[in-house]
Amino acid sequence: MPLSRRAFLAALPAAALAQPGEILPPWQPGQLDLHHISTGRGNATLCLLPDGTTLMIDAGAQRPTAAQRVYYVPAYPDESRRPGEWLARYAQRHLGRAQLEGLDHFLLTHFHSDHMGEFEAGLPNSRHGAYKLAGIADLAESLPIRHLVDRAWPDYSYPAPLTAPSTRNYREFVRSAMARGLKVEAFATGSLSQFPLRHAPTRYPRFEIRNIVANGRLWSGEGTTARDLFPPLSSLTPKDYPSENMCSAGIRLRYGAFDYYHAGDLCDGSSYGQPAWKDIETAAAKIVGPVDIALASHHGYIDSTGPEVVRALKPRAFIIHTWDSAHPTMPALHNMLSKELYSGPRDIFATALKPEALVTIRRMNQLASSLGHVVVRVAAGGESWSVFITSNSDESDRITARFGPYRSSEA
Ligand SMILES: [Zn+2]
Repeated sequence: MPLSRRAFLAALPAAALAQPGEILPPWQPGQLDLHHISTGRGNATLCLLPDGTTLMIDAGAQRPTAAQRVYYVPAYPDESRRPGEWLARYAQRHLGRAQLEGLDHFLLTHFHSDHMGEFEAGLPNSRHGAYKLAGIADLAESLPIRHLVDRAWPDYSYPAPLTAPSTRNYREFVRSAMARGLKVEAFATGSLSQFPLRHAPTRYPRFEIRNIVANGRLWSGEGTTARDLFPPLSSLTPKDYPSENMCSAGIRLRYGAFDYYHAGDLCDGSSYGQPAWKDIETAAAKIVGPVDIALASHHGYIDSTGPEVVRALKPRAFIIHTWDSAHPTMPALHNMLSKELYSGPRDIFATALKPEALVTIRRMNQLASSLGHVVVRVAAGGESWSVFITSNSDESDRITARFGPYRSSEA
């Protein structure tokens, strides 16, 4: 029987009722926190799982040129530290007891600098090996990672050898960190066990992380089986190979009735006469089905968040990692707002909108928030959740806006 609103509010932990102006209360055992960290330089999502296990998805650190800066938001909190340093400090503030152990899991969705860090010769060297402190390597310099999953370990050759300078730097970091105990695995599509709870898994039997998609291989929806949606490379010429974004890894976090979907920069590459198999984003969304919260893939860029993706996911909230004047684009935003694609309310949260975009795309004024860390706090058991926007201009974790509580919907 559904709870009355009064009973629903009474059942929430006090922390879920924190108000704007207050400091975000610390994570408590049983809660699920999803921190979409706003550095203005790339994606990073810190997940504090119900038993205290930690997972970070991506650690972007782009280094825009003077010409590119016109299109970017400022770096947050400021440029006195590199994005990877800010991310490590953010994580350390929120990890509590787990701090000494570092991060339990790290998922790198794909090999782009706004997700793993950008190589530049002028960056400082690691004290551990022959690589620069960019993105994830910078984060790991001060916050050890125990278990790393990416889409291409160990040979980094799909669909073609991954040899760009930023990827080479990442690979050297991986090689060096493995010698110091890092465990690395290739993303196992369909798996329900690659990101296990480390501390008290039996206490939270209704929490799970399902590996949905990577390299065009998609979970079937049954058991742990998967199928390949991309054709064999032998049937393609290199110019028709899947793009790096199309190869992104995606996961679904489920906690009781609560569902969250995050698939990096998965996109629809089938426009302009390209073959239908390049629309991997829609195929994946149809397997995932309705969720409470969806990350808008590829920052809501022009090749993402298409009508059928929105219709399949039907989220109560979209979260967009944004920092560029094209995040999100008009078509993606129209899809997210469309009541034709699904009825019912929805809120859209962006981590850092370029102010000019608010003028050029008028419907940007319908976003629930456009600046700050977007922190989803799911109550113990997963029945309800709230969204807190916290300051990204400093390290105070001060709440600037609060949304919800929302009830999780049974899929
Ligand atoms: Zn990206």
